[in-house]
Amino acid sequence: MNQSEKIYVAGHRGMVGSAIIRELRKQGYQNIVFRSSQELDLSQQTKVEQFFKEERPASVVLAAAKVGGILANSEQPTEFLYQNLMIASNVIHAAATAGVEKLLFLGSSCIYPKFAAQPLQEESLLTGALEPTNEAYAIAKIAGLKLTEYYNRQHGKKFISAMPSNLYGPEDNYHPDHSHVIPGLIRRFHEAKINNAPVVKVWGTGTPLREFLYVDDLAEACVFLLGSYQGAQFLNVGSGQEVTIQNLAQLIAKTVGFSGSVQFDASKPDGTPRKVMDSSKIQQLGWKSKTSLDEGLKKAYESFLQKSKVS
Ligand code: GDP
Repeated sequence: MNQSEKIYVAGHRGMVGSAIIRELRKQGYQNIVFRSSQELDLSQQTKVEQFFKEERPASVVLAAAKVGGILANSEQPTEFLYQNLMIASNVIHAAATAGVEKLLFLGSSCIYPKFAAQPLQEESLLTGALEPTNEAYAIAKIAGLKLTEYYNRQHGKKFISAMPSNLYGPEDNYHPDHSHVIPGLIRRFHEAKINNAPVVKVWGTGTPLREFLYVDDLAEACVFLLGSYQGAQFLNVGSGQEVTIQNLAQLIAKTVGFSGSVQFDASKPDGTPRKVMDSSKIQQLGWKSKTSLDEGLKKAYESFLQKSKVS
């Protein structure tokens, strides 16, 4: 990629979009465009088409999405499916029509069937039923990655997709109920420490296994792929670092400095039992994650503390 080319990052206020902008700037890219959701509602087709006609970016990173943790996903499937389908269709189609050269669509590891063989390989897509707690989000992401793939195969566009594992880091959503597990627990353990609460409740049984990727590592992978990959086949982007929710909770308690006890609340859903990706395809191309879970959690907690000082 040329450092002066115009790159549109959709979703620049989110955790992924903001990390991608940090990485692009670090690597010398200056001509980055973005719009807040108030300025440009990506679910409105005409507005999206107008934006692409006016701005004519050379490259696009599609990191905009309605996201949330296990509870938000299972409580609002309508919004998760509709919003994410509209965003993906509008942006990918308008980019193709406006002559965008390169597009990177971001999905998620929840696209895989609930009981697919682990580590999850790209070939397992659409081989079985999805995990019900995030089916709506997954269906929208599968539609987006397929649209990207079809534009690549049928129309020869350099449109590519990456599927990251569970992400965490600066600018995460720390909502008490609607966030993902790491920000949710950082907040809960921090508040328990401040209030001298003896016990923290963690959802589910503690046995599910998850793979976590620090968002700056994903951002490096995205810039790497924009510059070096054109394949129609989407790629997994994971750290390979797997941990049970129980061990994760202990690690977060240690990072935050909470010394009370942890209780599991089995009335809350566990979700899929295991979700670790095989990232050998992207590793063979030359990318590997750098940040250990320990180190990443420390950075995430620091950014949480800074954010709570400001707000
Ligand atoms: P998932 O990978 O789509 O299931 O995403 P989540 O990050 O929402 O949840 C991961 C796992 O952490 C699930 O087994 C949850 O039940 C568990 N978990 C434990 N405590 C929490 C919490 O406070 N918030 C969330 N979101 N999940 C939690």
